[in-house]
Amino acid sequence: MSQHGINHKAYIGLGSNMADPVAQVREALDELAHLPSSRLLAVSSLYRSAPVGKLDQPDFINAVALIETELTPQDLLKSLLEIEHYHGRVREYRNGPRTLDLDILLYDDLQCNDAHLTLPHPRMHQRAFVLQPLCEIAPDCRLAGHGTLAELLKECSGQQLERALE
Ligand code: ADP
Ligand code: MG
Repeated sequence: MSQHGINHKAYIGLGSNMADPVAQVREALDELAHLPSSRLLAVSSLYRSAPVGKLDQPDFINAVALIETELTPQDLLKSLLEIEHYHGRVREYRNGPRTLDLDILLYDDLQCNDAHLTLPHPRMHQRAFVLQPLCEIAPDCRLAGHGTLAELLKECSGQQLERALE
């Protein structure tokens, strides 16, 4: 990363429930560490969560990472979709469902609502599998309009989540 670039902080949510999810998330973290003009600053533990919404599918492995980056939000999203696509090729080959989800949760304090990018991520405040790992690496984080992570986590207490001991 250049000495003079403008560095932004972005929190990335990772999730996988197919094709060795722990390995998928670990590989994706390594790929985040190699994003152009970026640096990986912090990574949460890996968590295992029960699926929300569509219940007849395997548990998910989730994590949250903090990066420092010179990429614009749009270029960051493009890079994340490329990583998903790379993992997705493995998925297509095996004819299975999606193996990796990478979401931009927060990008500085930016609020954005265009056709391809919504920031902060519109559902993060309702998801224990985002809030708990985020709390681990950013305990004082507040989500504009939603309050503290502790308050939000209390509201998600019905969602099954545990640390993945792998
Ligand atoms: P979800 O993550 O909600 O399960 P998908 O990963 O299938 O859904 O959605 C992918 C699309 O969501 C991307 O093509 C992207 O344009 C859009 N999107 C909007 N906001 C964000 C964000 N904050 N992070 C990642 N993708 C986003
Ligand atoms: Mg996504």
